[in-house]
Amino acid sequence: MTTIQNYINGQLCPPLSGNYLDSVNPATGQVHAHIPDSDVQDVEAAIQAAQKAFPDWSNRSNEERSRILMTIAQRIEEKLDELALAESQDNGKPLSLAQKIDIPRAASNFRFFATAINHYAAESHQMAQVAINYTTRRPLGVVACISPWNLPLYLFTWKIAPALAAGNCVVAKPSEVTPLTAYLLTQICQEVGLPAGVLNVVHGLGPKAGNAMVIHPSIKAISFTGGTQTGARIAQQAAPLFKKLSLELGGKNPNIIFADCEYDDMLDTTIRSSFSNQGQICLAGSRIFVEASIYEQFKADFVKRTKALVVGNPLHASSNVGAVVSKPQMEKVLSYITLAKEEGGIILAGGNRIIVPDCEEGYFIAPTIIEGLAHDARTNQEEIFGPVVTMMPFETEEEVLSYANSTPYGLSSTVWTSHLKRAHRVAEQLEAGIVWVNCWLLRDLRTPFGGVKQSGVGREGGWEALRFFTEPKNVCIKL
Ligand code: NDP
Repeated sequence: MTTIQNYINGQLCPPLSGNYLDSVNPATGQVHAHIPDSDVQDVEAAIQAAQKAFPDWSNRSNEERSRILMTIAQRIEEKLDELALAESQDNGKPLSLAQKIDIPRAASNFRFFATAINHYAAESHQMAQVAINYTTRRPLGVVACISPWNLPLYLFTWKIAPALAAGNCVVAKPSEVTPLTAYLLTQICQEVGLPAGVLNVVHGLGPKAGNAMVIHPSIKAISFTGGTQTGARIAQQAAPLFKKLSLELGGKNPNIIFADCEYDDMLDTTIRSSFSNQGQICLAGSRIFVEASIYEQFKADFVKRTKALVVGNPLHASSNVGAVVSKPQMEKVLSYITLAKEEGGIILAGGNRIIVPDCEEGYFIAPTIIEGLAHDARTNQEEIFGPVVTMMPFETEEEVLSYANSTPYGLSSTVWTSHLKRAHRVAEQLEAGIVWVNCWLLRDLRTPFGGVKQSGVGREGGWEALRFFTEPKNVCIKL
């Protein structure tokens, strides 16, 4: 049993109230850690520590900050096995996925922004014979980073790394559902000598500890990833305080399959974009639209491949699909399957909870495929965030675009076609922040990342993240 501690002013410390919450391993349904139930006092202490650390950290050279962040990246890689095991036990995802994707990406996040900051340059604008302007970009001060449970260390570091690289001091909160790897990260920060107060991690509940960060007047910016409703609440509270906001929210992403696609590649990738991480990826392609001429063939192949997926103990190498993150999440997903049936959907695969040997109390759901629903049914409009996809045929480009763009979300889209002009045409018309053509989840960390409509405000990634975490100031000098 691990007792997680907050990380404030360089020290691992208990919550000031002395209160802890249970953290459950979703594969076993058993409590496996206790986490601080932090409140406003802990957040206040963290913000004070960050404020104290800011003058020194922000005035260090980029190279110096970069060097420390590179060391953190290296330690994450050295501790890959320990971190991956913790991530799998905390989240329910297959250990192999945490080893291949989550933890390596956390190291890449630190390395990417540690090097990016050395190449980040300010601008100058000359007014011939009149004046010269130069623009500085200084860190904001103390910023808050709040992250969700689906990709715990991956998304936590995606926020913290650019904030620290740019010279800010950070007060961060991982999801209370998956706090373990953030705790291990704070141990790494201690080991490598990150100066006290530069990063502070306060564990606890969103409406309590998270909210205390959101409304604190000394927090200059909030980088948030999570659900759309939580994002709306945060925006409502932060806007009158004039904080900078980056909101990465939910998705209900279309996966559009034209008959001229490279079929085998499409099928392999569609299995991943539907069920990787138990479908708990904001970028999952949860609505599959298939050109009518190949619909029946795709349906037969996709159902067969889906039924062959092994739902099992996340620690076993043979498991393709692990547990969903929590009991409430499992119940939410199952309730959407019930809704789909009520709406007239036909279950082609899955549709039920699975009892896994060795993990009888775990929260496992069979990968589920539903057909026969209208594009505007609730099941096709609301984010389910589990191993559930719907599929339906289409005849024309125009028709599928109207289906694809019909939800309130606009995070990502996938298009499968070998027709170059169509790829451009469809990509142009999709209402989404990211369009993948003949691939999925292929990420270059330099590219802007984020959504339109209710999928978010602002962009992360590359220079966008460094711009978010800095304030431009223009200086105009008359010649
Ligand atoms: P939530 O919105 O419930 O929570 C996200 C984080 O915000 C958690 O740390 C949570 O703490 C915290 N929080 C909750 N309420 C508040 C509040 N009032 N003030 C401040 N912080 C708060 O999302 P989930 O963790 O359930 O994650 C799933 C959602 O995240 C899905 O909708 C998914 O689409 C989205 N997501 C979006 C991504 C993107 O890049 N666009 C990427 C990944 C996920 P606590 O856990 O204690 O409640």
